[in-house]
Amino acid sequence: MDFPLSREAAVRAEELIPGGVNSPVRSFSGVDAPPITALKGEGSFLLDLDGNTYLDYLMCWGALIFGHADPEVTEAVAEAAAGGTGFGLSTAVEAELAELIISAIPSIERLRMVNSGTEAVMSAIRVARGFTGRNAVLKFEGCYHGHSDALLAKAGSGLRTFGLPSSAGVPEDFTRHTLIGRFNDLDSVEDLCMEHGEDLAAIVVEPVPGNMGVVEPRNGFLRGLRELADRTGALLIFDEVITGFRVEWGGAQTLYAVTPDLTCLGKIIGGGLPVGAFGGRADVMRLLAPEGPVYQAGTLSGNPVVATAGKITLERLRDERPHDELAARAGRLAAEIEKAARAAEIPVRVERVRSMFTTYFADHEITDAASAQMADFERYGRFFRLLLERGVLLPPSGHETAFVSTCHTDDRIAETIRAIHSVFDAL
Ligand SMILES: *Cc1c(COP(=O)(O)O)cnc(C)c1O
Repeated sequence: MDFPLSREAAVRAEELIPGGVNSPVRSFSGVDAPPITALKGEGSFLLDLDGNTYLDYLMCWGALIFGHADPEVTEAVAEAAAGGTGFGLSTAVEAELAELIISAIPSIERLRMVNSGTEAVMSAIRVARGFTGRNAVLKFEGCYHGHSDALLAKAGSGLRTFGLPSSAGVPEDFTRHTLIGRFNDLDSVEDLCMEHGEDLAAIVVEPVPGNMGVVEPRNGFLRGLRELADRTGALLIFDEVITGFRVEWGGAQTLYAVTPDLTCLGKIIGGGLPVGAFGGRADVMRLLAPEGPVYQAGTLSGNPVVATAGKITLERLRDERPHDELAARAGRLAAEIEKAARAAEIPVRVERVRSMFTTYFADHEITDAASAQMADFERYGRFFRLLLERGVLLPPSGHETAFVSTCHTDDRIAETIRAIHSVFDAL
């Protein structure tokens, strides 16, 4: 496999765009590999500038549950675009999409569209603060909720309970109200609630984290969060930007039967176009302008082309319900990775929830950010590069999630399994 055109494009982009990328993980620096420049996609395949094809398990970071360039979506998008790409006025399709989402996720009574997952979580937190009249937000180490200032926080030292900025350019003052808990550790949450419960506006969590790699919520963790939120009067916000419509038609909240007050969505609901949405209890959402005093807005929010892509995607998901089948296929991949690793005597844990999975090179249990970070990411890099040479594209970071789409048919899964076995022989 050769990449002269991809490399040339990357070098040119580096002179124009910071790091040559419009989002950091696209640089492939996490796997010590040259970045791929995508040309086009079709179904489960991605084609790069040099004409190499890859069986794609990145799937636009989970946004594409029906694979690349799904004809139903692309035709509807083309038709919508031909009728005007944006009006800055309401269109009927926005309400149709909202109705589909509300029918799938019963905890969402009212919904507002935005343009990214970042905006969705940032806005959900604002309305939670407006509703409760409180300031603090509790998040979990390793969970990613977009790049808004207050949420780019990491755990401080043992002496401080408030987060420290995890990015340059974020004043410490801006993360002063962000508390950091440990995922799957209710005691850590209870301690923070004891200390700060009276000022706690919201607990925000990825119900199945995908951004430290997949971690399964264990032992009633999500249910425990619901109880602690109720006890302190904080709102529970599920960031289902990945899990929404991915793990189930009704999202992770349906899978685990825990009802949040607010839910954030993105990725799948835009069918691969830029999107976000947040929604939940009507009495909370009513506080948003123009009904209420919490300001939130967007020139292109609910854009008709995006909303059309989302509507077609969700209609198909509603009718086809591929979630069990996708989970079974991802389960076969996970089992084969573990089997090949055992045969090669390489310690591996595959964490999988439904059709999302992460391969950790580790022989300890993965329960939170600390245990996830102890995996061998150098080895993941080799695994990634060897698979790429065999035409299989995994996420270009061991801290991320692989996704199976409806286009990953049994034949494609079988090809992937052959590549996996050949890679473990070479690792
Ligand atoms: C991708 C993601 C976001 C951010 O969405 P953007 O559209 O990239 O801003 C937020 N939360 C989670 C859980 C995500 O996976």
